[in-house]
Amino acid sequence: MPPAVIKLASRREVRVTVVGKVFEANRGKILALNKALDEYLRLVRWYLGFDSTSKVFLHKNCYERARELFNLNAALIQTARDKAVEILRSFKRLKRRGKVEADRPRIKSVSMRFDRRCYRFSKTGNVLTPYWLTLSLNKEERINLPIVFGEKQRQRIEEALRGEWRFTAVEMVKRDGEWYAHFVLEKAVEVVDKPETIVAVDVGERNLAVAVAISVNNPGKPMRGQFWRGAEVKRIRGLYGHVRRSLQKKRLLGKVKRLRGRERRKVEQELHKIANQIIAYARQFPRPVIVMEDLTGIRDNFDRGRRLNRRFHSLPFRRLQTYIECKALLDGINVVYLPRRLVKNTSRTCHRCGHVARNIKGGGVFRCERCGMEYDRDLNAAINIARRAICSAGWGSCGSPEPADEAEGVKLQPNAGSPNF
Ligand SMILES: [Zn+2]
Repeated sequence: MPPAVIKLASRREVRVTVVGKVFEANRGKILALNKALDEYLRLVRWYLGFDSTSKVFLHKNCYERARELFNLNAALIQTARDKAVEILRSFKRLKRRGKVEADRPRIKSVSMRFDRRCYRFSKTGNVLTPYWLTLSLNKEERINLPIVFGEKQRQRIEEALRGEWRFTAVEMVKRDGEWYAHFVLEKAVEVVDKPETIVAVDVGERNLAVAVAISVNNPGKPMRGQFWRGAEVKRIRGLYGHVRRSLQKKRLLGKVKRLRGRERRKVEQELHKIANQIIAYARQFPRPVIVMEDLTGIRDNFDRGRRLNRRFHSLPFRRLQTYIECKALLDGINVVYLPRRLVKNTSRTCHRCGHVARNIKGGGVFRCERCGMEYDRDLNAAINIARRAICSAGWGSCGSPEPADEAEGVKLQPNAGSPNF
């Protein structure tokens, strides 16, 4: 048996972001915020000038100087340093892969990160605006801002106020002249660490997501899979993309920006809906764990072949995974990302006989040259992902796959069982 490479923890950290809007704050406060943002951006750039990704180095050599040069409180000076390090690290990663021309990162805007030391959030008896965020900007200035939330976001912030979540940082974001507070909340949850069912969720271009469940006690027989084509997401992106291009031609850039925001929100709504349905799919089975492919760094690689072709860049796969992960953990379902080396060739391997095809033709059907199986291509890949997880983690036996039993409802017509929009 191969060594176990997957370890499931029974306690996991969940992190969510709750967004609220600064509600009709007076002019003086907004001016103070804008001034602090300018100062903060200047500071991040100043830190970037040292070209160091070491927080220790920057703290030792630059912190005192930063305190003299910038009118921001100590906590903001430190978060600006952390931001500079994050920006530089991702820039260097891209640089190594030859993705950027410039020698150093150029940043046009930044959000201000307030950690626990420099903000306070409280609920007051005020009827119209009960939620108030107090930010300390520098030695002299401390401002109180009324924050309003949409209904779902308000419920979560109420949970946090009841102590169900830990408040960590608040990112203050300025967009189209309006200010938003992004509250980052965390909590530890108990999840299943000895799964009985592996639910593989494969994201891709043709189907936005495909889920298939396999019992660890019977890995030869996958359960009925489910498909999400993501037609609505594609429609929204296509529609807005078209309008955006025509506005760009007319140089209506303000409108383009607003449209981008609306498009993003609509796509996010759809992704949440799909993620909820994927959790419901997993919930049908005993002690499920969700397995997905680790997509980090994929945008910088072009070895994905046809399945994730150039349009990959326009579809929000990674975001969908994040939503699935967060919702699953909150529901007590564990989530594992399989490293890339374990999901190699999943789309080219026949899940029935194990044959690896040298190349696969376009279209949605996988045809095995050896055993003759015809199967939905993405579903075939998902079954392979689930099986490899079972093998790698030692959750169950992983001998050569048995022929799937067609009577079990395994053999699917392409796209059967799909809750399409
Ligand atoms: Zn085969």
